[in-house]
Amino acid sequence: NPLSAATPPPPPEGSGKFGPYAGSTRFDELPISRRTKDGLKEAKYVNMTDIQRASLPHSLCGRDILGAAKTGSGKTLAFTIPVVEKLYRERWGPEDGVGSIIISPTRELAGQLFDVLKIVGKHHDFSAGLLIGGRKEVDIEKERVNELNILVCTPGRLLQHMDETPNLDCSQLQVLVLDEADRILDVGFKKALNAIISQLPKRRQTLLFSATQTKSVQDLARLSLKDPEYLSVHKES
Ligand code: ADP
Ligand code: MG
Repeated sequence: NPLSAATPPPPPEGSGKFGPYAGSTRFDELPISRRTKDGLKEAKYVNMTDIQRASLPHSLCGRDILGAAKTGSGKTLAFTIPVVEKLYRERWGPEDGVGSIIISPTRELAGQLFDVLKIVGKHHDFSAGLLIGGRKEVDIEKERVNELNILVCTPGRLLQHMDETPNLDCSQLQVLVLDEADRILDVGFKKALNAIISQLPKRRQTLLFSATQTKSVQDLARLSLKDPEYLSVHKES
């Protein structure tokens, strides 16, 4: 059941010295835009979780990331924040096209991460679209897809648009994200993913997050990761 991946984390009651967020730094201490900080604050996100604290300093510098942390540890903010910040810093605008693609293994998970993206991007001007529709929606998606700056999609649907949507231009892509990367890199998606990757520019930032560490040399080679930061938290569990 893909929804089980959305189990909430322990409540942040341990914001004291010895709790799960001990020693945490706050989102408002990060070198990120006021717009992003405001969105986070309004959604009551104050203290970073371990994976956020470990990865954001690197991802915000433009480095490739291989992040592993168990379900419920807050991986979604760990990649949506650098995506939004990168496009903001590049002054990405409506005419710049697709700046980021976030791939999720299931429609349900894609929908959930889209909701988080809306929080982070609330005070930004980018357009983002969820490309996961059923058969009926594909034509509606096709009309809109070339106006979108951030695509949140499942592998199959993204590939369908790459094949069938004439205006979809990914040549300016800045950041590629694979959420639940271990599932996306799994055999079932191998063909689709290879076809997608072959159509993306190699010069880009790539962020991989999953519940387990992916270190397959072959996988990393086909994703053209550049000197990635391996980050693993909650090793003991
Ligand atoms: P994962 O992708 O690692 O399974 P999610 O990104 O789905 O985890 O986050 C799990 C839950 O934790 C969500 O309900 C989210 O709102 C909450 N969460 C994430 N980051 C924080 C944070 N810094 N402070 C409080 N709650 C958070
Ligand atoms: Mg997740």
